[in-house]
Amino acid sequence: DPAKPKYHPINDACWSRGQEVPYLALAKTLEAIEATSARLKIVEILSNFFRSVIVLTPEDLLPCVYMCLNQLAPAYHSLELGIAETYLMKAVAQCTGRTLAQVKSAAQKCGDLGSAAEQARATQRTMFAPPPLKARKVFQALKEVANMTGQASVNKKIAKIQSLFTACRNCEAKYLIRSLEGKLRIGLAEQSVLQALALATATTPPDPDGVKVLDASKGLSAEQFKARLDEHALTIKTTYCECPNYDALIPVLLQHGVAALPQHCRLTPGVPLKPMLAHPTKGVHEVFNRFENEQFTCEWKYDGERAQIHVPAGEGGAAPDLAKASIFSRNQENNTSKYPDILRRLPGLLKDSVTSCVLDCEAVAYDVETKKILPFQILSTRKRKDASEADIKVQVCVFVFDLLYLNDRPLVREPLADRRRLLQEHFNEVEGEWQFATSKDCTTMEEVQQFLEEAVKGSCEGLMVKTLVGAHARYDIARRSHNWLKLKKDYLEGVGDTIDVVVIGGYRGRGKRTGVYGGFLLACYDHENEQYQALCKIGTGFSDEDLQTLSKELEQHVIEAPKNYYSYDRSHSPDAWFGAACVWEVRCADLSLSPAHRAAIGLVDSEKGISLRFPRFIRVRTDKTPEQATSAQQIAEMYLAQDQIKNNKSKPTNLD
Ligand code: ATP
Repeated sequence: DPAKPKYHPINDACWSRGQEVPYLALAKTLEAIEATSARLKIVEILSNFFRSVIVLTPEDLLPCVYMCLNQLAPAYHSLELGIAETYLMKAVAQCTGRTLAQVKSAAQKCGDLGSAAEQARATQRTMFAPPPLKARKVFQALKEVANMTGQASVNKKIAKIQSLFTACRNCEAKYLIRSLEGKLRIGLAEQSVLQALALATATTPPDPDGVKVLDASKGLSAEQFKARLDEHALTIKTTYCECPNYDALIPVLLQHGVAALPQHCRLTPGVPLKPMLAHPTKGVHEVFNRFENEQFTCEWKYDGERAQIHVPAGEGGAAPDLAKASIFSRNQENNTSKYPDILRRLPGLLKDSVTSCVLDCEAVAYDVETKKILPFQILSTRKRKDASEADIKVQVCVFVFDLLYLNDRPLVREPLADRRRLLQEHFNEVEGEWQFATSKDCTTMEEVQQFLEEAVKGSCEGLMVKTLVGAHARYDIARRSHNWLKLKKDYLEGVGDTIDVVVIGGYRGRGKRTGVYGGFLLACYDHENEQYQALCKIGTGFSDEDLQTLSKELEQHVIEAPKNYYSYDRSHSPDAWFGAACVWEVRCADLSLSPAHRAAIGLVDSEKGISLRFPRFIRVRTDKTPEQATSAQQIAEMYLAQDQIKNNKSKPTNLD
């Protein structure tokens, strides 16, 4: 059939040295990964693709890595896709000669617009097949789409998407559409991508003069190769933690090899780190069990917003460049324009000895007259972006609790005791503006208990308990570490922590709540299966005003049918489904096994999930993305940490 584009699934995904990588080669790799559940196999598939790219077209490695992760730039550039489903449906409908209703119904049937788009494209005939897509150009086009802003850009975006879509062959359509939606959903975690890079470079070492060794594992024993691989993986992963920027990392990898990474890609002011996170505990006893043989320190746990403050050195490196200082959120979002007041006060904080630094802090709402800390709710009324100092009504005091970089030197591997000493030596406290976190190196349970009570009286949430000296006292970038424990006031006898959930459904309100949603279906996020798993229904903790604002906000996220990555029981089907967008913090009395909820299913019990009992709404978490909600793994850990479960535990779980 001359009207049908000729397509050969193998040949079309192949390319020769120096040629651009066909997008089909990448799409086929993503398809193979999607069909595999074993992590080792996934890493092997991806590393083989990376090896081909390293040998044939190394300059395409960077766009290919980014597209596997569905990223366009380092996370802190906030350049994201996530085109509204209706626009994508429109583009698919127009390209394939279908009506919008047909595309919608096909997407609903398979629960995935990407698969529906692939099917529509497969049955479509084109007179003149456009030239095959190249990975590099698709990446460039995706970036252009993400960069188009404003109302007038919608048509331009659709036109760009259509030009790509009409050139798609085979599974390309599926992954192109999913990339545009903002999520690939193939079960590929970033850690697997880093491991695949390690395996690829350990097997086929990049060489700027053309790769000479295709398989360096030959001639090595299995142990020797494993040692080499482990070394590569450790170097790549730790470098990425300090410098989460593939634009910097990949060129060094190709030009100088893995061993040169730590020297070239270091922690740098201006590039935000994923923060160290803490484990919840339920009481002073648990703290003492954990720190039995270690020296620890307690700090007040302030209830505000995390602020990572970066100050680079100026020209010549002799003084800081305060005009280039930036502030990042817990999520590496750039919050610099939210806090002009903090930036103006920087000179008060830095002593003359400081030429550059990175500080880990909590920005807290503060009453300057009474010199008192104010609740988080007050901080959340501040404008999120482009605040002008004259309009700021809520003042903040910044509580500095860590120093990660000082005068051109990363400190993350130094123990907390040394970091704290340097902080106190090189920085000033200014009342109501800059204060060091109140701390005490407690040694007895009574001391911790008393310090906790003081923290609560001082309007704090509780304590952070941290390892102070030795190897465990380093700053564990991007880790929820047992070297930091959080001890919150309210939950000492309960679950130990609040839970951050994703709102996936709403139930229409009755009586007093008519016209708004009166209850909601909440989910946790399961990283392993990339699913939102229903956790409980919630209807308490909301004021009438809360329900008005939350219902209004959720209206924007209504979808016609549940996503195929929502796991729930039909008996809980809500009146409206929402796309995973809003994260709320809730508290509960306890966690119990549930035949009707799916959270953490398979982790504690093979058939039952876990649900929250007596959940209450606390607040909206604007600083967390849905994937940063409490994970299925954490839910299972919290369930098992409950006293009555711990005392009665008889059979092993999948977490053991
Ligand atoms: P998590 O970050 O653990 O997922 P979360 O965002 O709900 O959960 P919390 O449970 O409130 O955070 O605990 C950690 C947060 O506490 C830190 O991210 C930081 O913003 C804040 N914090 C306040 N005081 C301190 C301190 N002294 N040391 C470290 N973190 C502190």
